Amino acid sequence: MLEAGFSGGCQCGAVRYAVSPGPVGQTLCHCRMCQRATGGPFAALAEVASTRIAWNGSPSTWASSNIANRGFCYRCGTPLFYRETGGTTTELTAGSLDRPETFRPTDHHGSERRLTWLSALDSLPQRPTLLEAGITLETYQDPRGA
Ligand SMILES: [Zn+2]
Ligand SMILES: [Zn+2]
Repeated sequence: MLEAGFSGGCQCGAVRYAVSPGPVGQTLCHCRMCQRATGGPFAALAEVASTRIAWNGSPSTWASSNIANRGFCYRCGTPLFYRETGGTTTELTAGSLDRPETFRPTDHHGSERRLTWLSALDSLPQRPTLLEAGITLETYQDPRGA
C-alpha cells in the first residue's frame, strides 16, 4: 500500500525518489497530453505532496502547457511525473514505482479521450515474457525496481 511510503526511479537509475508515508491520490489519466507524455495509452499517476519526495538525481522538466510540467530522466527518457505549475503536489508515474503492483487506481480522468480498446484487454490472449531460443538478454536497467 503506497500510503506507507514508497520509492521509484527511472530505467537507467540516474534519477531516483523516495516518498515518505502519507496520503496518495491514485488515478488514471486518459487525456491526450498524458498519452503523449508517457508514450502509452494513459498515464497511471500517484499524487503526493511534493515536500514528501526526496530526489536522488535531478529530473529534467518540460512545460507541456502553461499550467503543467512533465518530469523525466535526462539520460534514459523515462517519464517520471506530472506537476502543475506552482502546485504543491507531484503526480509520479506508476510505472516508475519500484513496486508498481502496489498502485491502486481509484478513478479515471480525461475519459473523453479514453481509448475504446482498453475495455477489451482482459479478453485478449496472454503470455509471459519469453526470449527467443538462442538469445541472451543483457539488461542495462537499474536493478532497483526491476
Ligand atoms: Zn534514467
Ligand atoms: Zn492527463
